[in-house]
Amino acid sequence: MSESSPWDIPFNRPYLSGKEFLYLRQAIESGNLAGDGTFTRRCQDWLRASAGSARALLTNSCTAALEMCALLLGISPGDEVLVPSYTFVSTANAFVLRGAVPVFVDVRDDTLNLDEEKIEAAITSRTRAIAVVHYAGVGCEMDRILEIAGRRGLAVVEDDAQGVNARYRGRPLGGLGHLAAVSFHETKNLISGEGGALLVNDPRHSARAEILWQKGTDRQAFLRGEVDKYSWIDVGSSFLASELTAAFLWAQMEASAEITAARLGIFEKYQQAFAGAEANGLLRRPIVPGHCTHNGHMFYVLARDAESRTRILARLRERRIQGTFHYVPLHSSPAGRRLGRSAGPLPVTESVAARIVRLPVWVGMTEPQVGRVVEAVLSAL
Ligand SMILES: *Cc1c(COP(=O)(O)O)cnc(C)c1O
Repeated sequence: MSESSPWDIPFNRPYLSGKEFLYLRQAIESGNLAGDGTFTRRCQDWLRASAGSARALLTNSCTAALEMCALLLGISPGDEVLVPSYTFVSTANAFVLRGAVPVFVDVRDDTLNLDEEKIEAAITSRTRAIAVVHYAGVGCEMDRILEIAGRRGLAVVEDDAQGVNARYRGRPLGGLGHLAAVSFHETKNLISGEGGALLVNDPRHSARAEILWQKGTDRQAFLRGEVDKYSWIDVGSSFLASELTAAFLWAQMEASAEITAARLGIFEKYQQAFAGAEANGLLRRPIVPGHCTHNGHMFYVLARDAESRTRILARLRERRIQGTFHYVPLHSSPAGRRLGRSAGPLPVTESVAARIVRLPVWVGMTEPQVGRVVEAVLSAL
């Protein structure tokens, strides 16, 4: 596997805690391979406890969980949902699937999160919800966003794909909006290959969430003995993850404190190593506000301009180190132009998208490996 890799230092290397095979074996031997079994419940309890949510449901992906959010909020054709342009497509697609128009809002220059001060000007009589993304596991300005949403009668959905184990003013990300969606894709901090979860923080959505999750049936109530047969009672889909996914994920959840600590350690090494370059105006490092506790999901630098970014990426490639840029802004992508609209000019989004370089961060990366990455970047400035 690694012999054929073109990279000496890949961008990501999936981490295994060591218990994955054991739990997969237990799941297989239990004879319960479909969803909603013992491992699913363990994972859901962990998520509920760690985010303080009313309900947690394991899904096949964060994308699936975001689609559940759009269904739960009753998003319908013509509705508008505010989203950052600087995000992954699923933040917008989940709502577009229900006929909504994503309205793209610019991000903050420091955290690259949705700029809360640009929200009010983007709200119209059709706006139904605000979808926020905690980029790199750094929390959005949730107090301000929730205050605006409450005053204007809007729902808040957290795209918390990157935010596991991170906090905003001491409160866990994923537990702050009405609903939240988490990802366990292999590139995230905790992984199950593909996988995700819906977090329900507004308990008014709890009962319907479990029905949508179980293909539109009241199977959950039936399993609890509340009804004597289960039947089709609402829309829904097969959103739930299998026990094999949950078994793998449980091994990751058990190791989550070590995983977060290891990633934060690598993040800090990069942060220190690039302090001088930043002081000399050669690049900018990530900014984590004092009231945010992040989770080491990502380390990036912002090059001075697009040319500098191209040079850095080329140098990394020469040295067999896999660096990468990030999102093509949604407002400038083919589907975004056809299906959404911009709330106004998006200069920060465009600037950041042209200058960002993400560097390798994975559990098991050694100090010399971090050093090689740093040296390659510095040599290209
Ligand atoms: C990874 C990611 C997603 C998609 O997660 P999946 O589990 O692959 O569906 C959505 N939004 C953001 C911000 C992401 O980083």
